[in-house]
Amino acid sequence: MSVERLRVEVLLEAPSYDIVCGAGSFDTLPSLLAEWGVAGRIVVCSDDNVAPLHGERLVALLQRAGVETSLWTMPAGERHKTLQTVESLYAWLAERRVERRDTIVACGGGVVGDLCGFAAATYLRGIRLAQVPTTLVAQVDSTVGGKVGVDLPAGKNLVGAFHQPALVVADPEVLTTLPPREWHAGMAEVVKHGIIGGANLLDALGRDHDAIMAREPGVVARLVSRAVRVKIDVVRQDPLEVGLRRVLNYGHTLGHAVERVAGYGVVLHGEAVAWGMAAAARIGVEIGTCDSAFVAWQDDLLRGYGLLGALPRLDPDDLLAATRVDKKSIGGRIYWVLPRRPGEVAITDDVPDTAVRAAAAWLARGGQ
Ligand code: NAD
Repeated sequence: MSVERLRVEVLLEAPSYDIVCGAGSFDTLPSLLAEWGVAGRIVVCSDDNVAPLHGERLVALLQRAGVETSLWTMPAGERHKTLQTVESLYAWLAERRVERRDTIVACGGGVVGDLCGFAAATYLRGIRLAQVPTTLVAQVDSTVGGKVGVDLPAGKNLVGAFHQPALVVADPEVLTTLPPREWHAGMAEVVKHGIIGGANLLDALGRDHDAIMAREPGVVARLVSRAVRVKIDVVRQDPLEVGLRRVLNYGHTLGHAVERVAGYGVVLHGEAVAWGMAAAARIGVEIGTCDSAFVAWQDDLLRGYGLLGALPRLDPDDLLAATRVDKKSIGGRIYWVLPRRPGEVAITDDVPDTAVRAAAAWLARGGQ
């Protein structure tokens, strides 16, 4: 078994933690937790898709290792990433008298990780959190960096906190049960990490295409750890998202707009980010940060990983309006992340409306 440990030293006042990436690492969770000194009870939190596939197995593993463990399950899906669901988790924790020394282990995708992470950040003013991400999005993105939170009717992720986990265990074997669409959506975030700064990652995406698409655990583990390294590097330099961390929003400005205008769940987040990256590259050509060869190269890469498929008909004015309410805009200005070349992006708030309109119109025509 080849298991890699990546050390995340994110915030000066928060302890560093390990992200353990490797085939078979899931089964070593009891010993990893013991090594890290867990003394109290464990609450495994999952959703109703993941619990029968992996959550119940995790509970059994921990119980066999002699740890008092129970399972809390939420309904799957973004529409349940709400304060109401957090409240039901708080009530469940309080009823069972879960204490400060106890630990929440979030076993699921980004929704479970964000929501249970938020509960861990706030219940009793903060209890320990470990993450066992079961989607590619969660392994390469949402469990790195400490952002946790829930959605409000007014928008996604509007309530949240920074709460670093004590441990992340990313096992590629749990990804074998992921539906193909979710797998492809996760690949969009991997490609994004490559384009914002992962030369090694881009090499692997070019070289290991077939093995990656076949989800070969050893190859996927290396891919995940390369993608995680890119994010760790960015987060380490800007833990509170005041500058450089904006590069992680590559593809997200128009991507969020596509996701919102199409209706959440119609176009998955990663699918929308892929369209957002394709649109950002076209803006890049308009304003001279990259050339059309980059656009063609990036389109091919994304298509090769099952992205840039059909888009529903969208209204370009709705897309433009949605970019303006993006929560990442500052004082009404939008900071665009635009590609320069594979592995390098630029951040600018100086993009003419005409270029944005042209990109929105291109998306509205389904990328034609
Ligand atoms: P998700 O958690 O909704 O999971 C997608 C679907 O796959 C769900 O139906 C889930 O039940 C199912 N699933 C999960 N693991 C499975 C498995 N191994 N086998 C079979 N089915 C499985 O979505 P996601 O794409 O993982 O995460 C999206 C969320 O992550 C969004 O809410 C987004 O805001 C958040 N996010 C947060 C950050 C951050 O920094 N905190 C970064 C990126 C995304």
